[in-house]
Amino acid sequence: MRTISEPAREIPVIAEVDVLVAGGGPAGFAAAVAAARLGASVMLVERYGCLGGMATGGMVLYMDGLSDGTKRVIGGLCWESMERLGDDGGLAERGPLRYDVDSELYKVTLDQMCLEAGVRVRLHSWVANALVEDGRVRGVVIESKSGREAVLAHTIIDATGDGDVAAFAGADYELGHMRIGLNMKVGGVDRDRYQAFAQAEPERARALRGALRDRGGFPIGMGPTPYSEEGVYWVNVIGLSERSGLGPPEGADYDEHWGGRLSAIDAEDLTHAELELRRRLAESLAYYRENVPGYEGVRLLGFASQIGVRESRRILGHTVLTGEDVLGGRTFDDGIGRGGLAGPGVSYDIPYRALVPLGVDGLLVAGRCISADHRALGHIRVIPPMMVTGQAAGTAAFMAVELGVRPAAVDPVVLRKQLATDGVIL
Ligand SMILES: Cc1cc2nc3c(=O)[nH]c(=O)nc-3n(C[C@H](O)[C@H](O)[C@H](O)COP(=O)(O)OP(=O)(O)OC[C@H]3O[C@@H](n4cnc5c(N)ncnc54)[C@H](O)[C@@H]3O)c2cc1C
Repeated sequence: MRTISEPAREIPVIAEVDVLVAGGGPAGFAAAVAAARLGASVMLVERYGCLGGMATGGMVLYMDGLSDGTKRVIGGLCWESMERLGDDGGLAERGPLRYDVDSELYKVTLDQMCLEAGVRVRLHSWVANALVEDGRVRGVVIESKSGREAVLAHTIIDATGDGDVAAFAGADYELGHMRIGLNMKVGGVDRDRYQAFAQAEPERARALRGALRDRGGFPIGMGPTPYSEEGVYWVNVIGLSERSGLGPPEGADYDEHWGGRLSAIDAEDLTHAELELRRRLAESLAYYRENVPGYEGVRLLGFASQIGVRESRRILGHTVLTGEDVLGGRTFDDGIGRGGLAGPGVSYDIPYRALVPLGVDGLLVAGRCISADHRALGHIRVIPPMMVTGQAAGTAAFMAVELGVRPAAVDPVVLRKQLATDGVIL
């Protein structure tokens, strides 16, 4: 491919902080608030116009992994943010320990919690490079309408989901390719009428879904929202595995259901997925309106502003969390919190060393880019456990700053003690 040279230029350093958090999704939000509440100066840089990542801009409403089916296993900042949202009427309980958030009100809650903690929030700014000296990340370059700017920090937390900072800094990673989706909200659904139809004619309901899938459409499910009584539902779209691919058939195995080939770090693949999913979802809505009882009045209320990436870079850390660890409910001596599985009584530890990248200093990773294998990520990537990783990374970053040490040198025993004090369930 033809290349050109970009001339070197001086760029302004707009901030020098203790902790810089890249990415303001569930993990980045928790990391920033945790570090700031403990007393660190914190800047949080987010490429889009809101905090919350997939939980807000991505229109993921269901807070999965919060419990082991019998009790809540996640507390800390995740649970606190949900309680605050609930106080503002933005939380719906779909069953015991199962909650859906109002993605728009949640944006406000997350803003408030960051600002109250003293986090300096910078929206509309892409982290475009890492500044590395002698194997240590010293800061990042950001790109925005203000131009190219630098932020320097003692410790950087990569919560971009895609591990962008770690990759810029030269960390090793594996690249995964789960299906890319695009969520939406719909209104005007008559749930009772649909359920009566599906109960009376299950074969016809299945055949209608099958016919839709065969022409490239996606089932328009009825995920609850806080406004479901008014016919408003959330559609969690499984999405595309490859450019011309179909959604998974009913009863598909794990790999067929989730597997894919599109790369979430390739702008061409992302563009294709966004355009293709929007077209196919609009067609699926029209199909439902014409064919499925209960959906005669269905209307599109909105597509997610952020495309649904489930997996991309998994950064190689001092520990790699495996599918066996997660499904076996393994505990670690450096466990920084737990996540729950759907099976009753099953929960697993997330080890601190999975947040510490190998070979790059001054950096922690949080969120879905932590060090885990493909199978582990399939379970841990849901929002509440991702917030657990963020709170731990923010707390560890504060400790690294306070003691003047590398993140790898933070004592997990002291870290766990602080996390327990701050409401994390260990
Ligand atoms: C279609 C779909 C459905 C899902 N359904 C569920 C569900 O039902 N329940 C559940 O709990 N979970 C669900 N998940 C999983 C969950 O939403 C994500 O795994 C989780 O949000 C990951 O959190 P995160 O903070 O690591 O990343 P994200 O939520 O992706 O947040 C990353 C943030 O970083 C920002 N960012 C990225 N790169 C840069 C950069 N270079 N510079 C600045 N900012 C940057 C992004 O804009 C974003 O705000 C779903 C995911 C998808 C894709």
